[in-house]
Amino acid sequence: MKRKWIFTAATACVLPFFFGSCENGETSARKSKTKNAETTQSVSAKTDCSAVHWTHEQGPKGPDNWKHLCKDFATCGGKRQSPIDIVTAKVQHDENLQPPQWNYGTTTVDIVNNGHTVQFNVHGDHNVELNGKTYKLLQFHYHAPSEHTVDGKHYPLEVHFVHKHSDDDYAVLGIFFIQGAEDQLFARYLDSIPEQVGSYTSSQTIDLKELFPSDRSYYHYEGSLTTPPCSEVVRWYVLKTPVEASAEQLKRFADILNNNYRPVQPLNDRVVRLYRD
Ligand SMILES: [Zn+2]
Repeated sequence: MKRKWIFTAATACVLPFFFGSCENGETSARKSKTKNAETTQSVSAKTDCSAVHWTHEQGPKGPDNWKHLCKDFATCGGKRQSPIDIVTAKVQHDENLQPPQWNYGTTTVDIVNNGHTVQFNVHGDHNVELNGKTYKLLQFHYHAPSEHTVDGKHYPLEVHFVHKHSDDDYAVLGIFFIQGAEDQLFARYLDSIPEQVGSYTSSQTIDLKELFPSDRSYYHYEGSLTTPPCSEVVRWYVLKTPVEASAEQLKRFADILNNNYRPVQPLNDRVVRLYRD
């Protein structure tokens, strides 16, 4: 029962990150505090963390302090956190791992700058089969520089495709970017991406499969969301092969994203496994 309670509260915090922002957090926090004060005498109230303001910048609201900002952010201090540094010499090749089977189509997108990332919300049913389970694509979003590192090195950009199987089973596919040829998605949308909190709706369709490299090799480990409440419900699939974007595109996007990465977290007793295509 306790576990379920924790998860329900965590979900309530996950959704604003996926679909909203921390704007006006202080006002809402004050309001809910007043409301709680009236009703908590006999009820063990759930903590509503959705309005709590946090940042990627170091400081009182920064990554080192997320675990203290709200009761349900305590998991940010857990033992199975993301991102991590992938140490290639310690990765274990696993022959039981399967290649991802993408069942993606075309979709229009809503591009949302929620103050923490730039997120592309997709429409319709797009899913991926990963080692026997089907995960539905919810959205994809970006971090600059990358959140995962490989042998201690950041890439300039990382995209996260967030998929859900159930409330305690998410799969996030991460892809790194390197400098090279122009990225077609950015060529189409960089001019329209809101530089501040805001959104842009596009009626053009994009082909989701084109956003992935042809080599499906991946690093796999079990971890967490990389933003509060840092729920440890994510199976990570970080693709080994990066995709390309031009120097100008990477710079423009990085300026908008403004160092929105969480520093790497200890691996602890976890193992990173490799699927080789
Ligand atoms: Zn992310």
